Amino acid sequence: MKITMKSRRRLLQLFFLALLFPPLYFTGVYWYGTYISADLLGVALTDPLTAMEITLAGKSFHPVLWLSALPLIIVALLFGRVFCSYVCPLNLLLELLPGTLTERKSQNSQLPIYILAMVLLLSLLISIPVHNTLSPVYAMMHVLLFGLGIEAILLGIVLLMALTLGRKSWCRLLCPLGAVYGLLGIKRRLFLQVDPHKCIHCQKCLRACSMGTVPGSSNWRDVYNCTNCGDCVDACEQQALHFSLKGSGNHSIFKEGK
Ligand code: SF4
Ligand code: SF4
Repeated sequence: MKITMKSRRRLLQLFFLALLFPPLYFTGVYWYGTYISADLLGVALTDPLTAMEITLAGKSFHPVLWLSALPLIIVALLFGRVFCSYVCPLNLLLELLPGTLTERKSQNSQLPIYILAMVLLLSLLISIPVHNTLSPVYAMMHVLLFGLGIEAILLGIVLLMALTLGRKSWCRLLCPLGAVYGLLGIKRRLFLQVDPHKCIHCQKCLRACSMGTVPGSSNWRDVYNCTNCGDCVDACEQQALHFSLKGSGNHSIFKEGK
């Protein structure tokens, strides 16, 4: 039986989900924390958007905070939006929704980048880390850890968007956290490459991409949106797609639209 990229990814998603529940499973020795900030083998980790918001809301720079954001910044610089495809619990929830309910695909948009700018400006103006307070990603974490609360409204909005505008409409249209990782990963080293000798232009990879991205494209919007999830690799029966660390130049065979 072929082990797909999706099944490996699912395992990792479930692993990162399980990490939310220490000390029950991990006793705080190797891991302790949440998706906002954590301690892994004694190394402090903070999500870069949280670091930005706290810096702006508190109007003070804390080197220790930024040191803890650095490992995740480096991961995004090298591998792009892998937080989205391998870690984000909201992404897992959206991917588990039945396909028949979420077939519609929202268009890609740069809106999350503008939302990010707005979130940062608001954090500065009202001295509250806005995304941390209103993020459905963190709302889901709260619901998982503490049960249903007022945060469930945020999850309801994301689910409604998924059902009406398409499965990943939150990610594609609004999420500022995805925007941070997408922007950091614009010059990533892990690329999708298309083998032009194997590709028969069936476009199955395009249809498989829930982010509406052109696999292997070097267009900045596609690179920004691509989470390196590998769903397109699984979808290609010709095995024309693969990940490469040497990525450079334009590898796309789909220059025009989808
Ligand atoms: S875009 Fe946001 S909600 Fe979507 S997977 Fe990425 S971090 Fe999660
Ligand atoms: S192009 Fe492929 S790897 Fe990138 S998000 Fe779409 S399906 Fe995932």
